[in-house]
Amino acid sequence: MFEHITTIELAGYGVGTFLLCATISAPKIDSLISTSQRSSMGMCKRCGDLKMIACSGCKGLGLIKEGGPFNIIPVNNIYQSKMRSIGCTKCQSRGSFSCPECANLSEN
Ligand SMILES: [Zn+2]
Ligand SMILES: [Zn+2]
Repeated sequence: MFEHITTIELAGYGVGTFLLCATISAPKIDSLISTSQRSSMGMCKRCGDLKMIACSGCKGLGLIKEGGPFNIIPVNNIYQSKMRSIGCTKCQSRGSFSCPECANLSEN
């Protein structure tokens, strides 16, 4: 019985990981679908019915590397994992904005 419960838990983790991947890859899918395809499918031209737009400042991550390309990195601190990440101020660390065109439609 214990093994059975473990299997269900593992399946739950799998679904959670899938949903997380789907959320992260959403902006990529967004760019793959052209504007003309969206309009022919009745989707929002701006966001493809995602109801949100990935932040251009942080590439949808909600975090940006502190310092940027002009930051001088010490030799013993060259690994990116040691670089500090700070919350994106453009999107308040959310990684995306709500689509203005979809917001207008809901208001009307
Ligand atoms: Zn951002
Ligand atoms: Zn939209």
